[in-house]
Amino acid sequence: MKDSFGREISYLRVSVTQRCNLNCVYCGKTDCDKKENELEADTIAAIASAFVRCGIRKIRLTGGEPLVREDVSEIVGKLRALSQVQTLALTTNGVYLKRFAAELRRAGLDSVNVSLDSTDGSTYHKLTGADVLHRVLEGVEEARRAGLSPIKINAVLMRGVNDDGARELVELAKETPVDVRFIELMPFSDAGEDDARVVTNAELLQRFPFLEPLGETDGTAQMYTGTGFRGRVGFISPVSRRFCASCNRMRLLSDGKVKPCLGDDTVYDLLPLVGDEARLTQEIRRIILQKPAGHRFGEIRPAHGLNRTGG
Ligand code: SAM
Repeated sequence: MKDSFGREISYLRVSVTQRCNLNCVYCGKTDCDKKENELEADTIAAIASAFVRCGIRKIRLTGGEPLVREDVSEIVGKLRALSQVQTLALTTNGVYLKRFAAELRRAGLDSVNVSLDSTDGSTYHKLTGADVLHRVLEGVEEARRAGLSPIKINAVLMRGVNDDGARELVELAKETPVDVRFIELMPFSDAGEDDARVVTNAELLQRFPFLEPLGETDGTAQMYTGTGFRGRVGFISPVSRRFCASCNRMRLLSDGKVKPCLGDDTVYDLLPLVGDEARLTQEIRRIILQKPAGHRFGEIRPAHGLNRTGG
């Protein structure tokens, strides 16, 4: 369905947990070990089903880290059973992907985005607090073997922390058939609010003049490629080049609250309505119509960190 600004709302991002197995610098997590208020697989499916009745056609599982949930494949299976869902995707840090990839594929997952902010082992360790780069790379390989497609790599750069590894990330798209997408640091947490840390995508494009625009977008990413590249390079610029006018997303948090906009603090609690399909659907329609015109980054620091909303 369309929201009150005429945007077709078709994409739901579901945070299945706020727990995470990493401790990334940009996330600034505070409450990531708590299982508190995590929705059961059946509840997630009931809420998602109501969203589908309102026009959602793509669902992405995120977190926290979705693969810390032992029942993540069960959740995928229940969402796959919603016949109108055309695309079922997952965003992960990839550390447990080797173990889960084949099981997730069998359960009906289509594609996966892997967050990988550095291809250098010691920088990755510094960024995430864990010396596990090799496990992420093995996970990506296993995802490919399992038939998950497409596989996209998401990278967030911070000046003076990992931006010196940007070239290696671009090289990844040259050497392998994956899309590497640079996501600009957003003003969540202390790290994200430090403007000096932000590396804009315009700056990156100046660093890599050999990248040529493809004149196409992939979701919110502007896509580029280079001579001899097997994959593509994408640039997602939520702050410097906001895309609110074409935002098609809603977000379900791990405790059953709906957040219509990543950069706005308004949330709505759906849990009291679970079990009453008609009222749940009616409430979701009402919430979609309340989706704000645009984010408020710059005015507010969002109350829910990205560890809760899942980016
Ligand atoms: N654990 C999963 C993962 O690692 O992809 C999903 C959750 S993680 C919080 C979601 C995404 O948010 C990651 O791609 C991460 O790079 C990104 N992220 C975290 N903090 C950010 C910030 N301040 N600005 C931009 N992206 C951020």
